[in-house]
Amino acid sequence: MRVDVNTGLLVGVKQVLSPFFDERPAGVVPDLLVLHGISLPPGAFGGPWIARLFTGNLPADAHESFHERAGLRVSAHLLIRRDGEIVQFVSFNDRAWHAGRSAWQGREACNDYSIGIECEGTDEVPYEAAQYATLRKLLPLLLEAYPAITRERIVGHSDVAPGRKTDPGQSFDWSQVRG
Ligand SMILES: [Zn+2]
Repeated sequence: MRVDVNTGLLVGVKQVLSPFFDERPAGVVPDLLVLHGISLPPGAFGGPWIARLFTGNLPADAHESFHERAGLRVSAHLLIRRDGEIVQFVSFNDRAWHAGRSAWQGREACNDYSIGIECEGTDEVPYEAAQYATLRKLLPLLLEAYPAITRERIVGHSDVAPGRKTDPGQSFDWSQVRG
């Protein structure tokens, strides 16, 4: 696994390209990493639904919770599944649509300047050791490829959208990735 900074792709992982991205503002390079938690349906793991959501193929009638999500245009650069597998949806060179209304240290619109990583999980259920193992391999590669992302600039969605978002939640053990 390695980062190709020309393409913005993580070589060696599954790529499922999302239509939900656009260009970063001119001259902006990633200098923040936003970690998220997601599960679909909420609390269920292992299904195809997160990838279906990020590719605009979530069937509204497959689960009652999908009605409100089926039309969303959202994505992330990467998803880390419960077994630690990584799927890439958007090039790091492009702007993925993961953080929504957000700010970090007074700077708004975190999607402009961040890489978004979704971990399959919930605020309540502990994340898997395999996911932390993947993060411990992945994060040094990203910090090397994008040196403006320092350890102190690895944050949670709840940090950039306080009061609006709670993920990755209290179930996420930050000492495993910041230590
Ligand atoms: Zn989130």
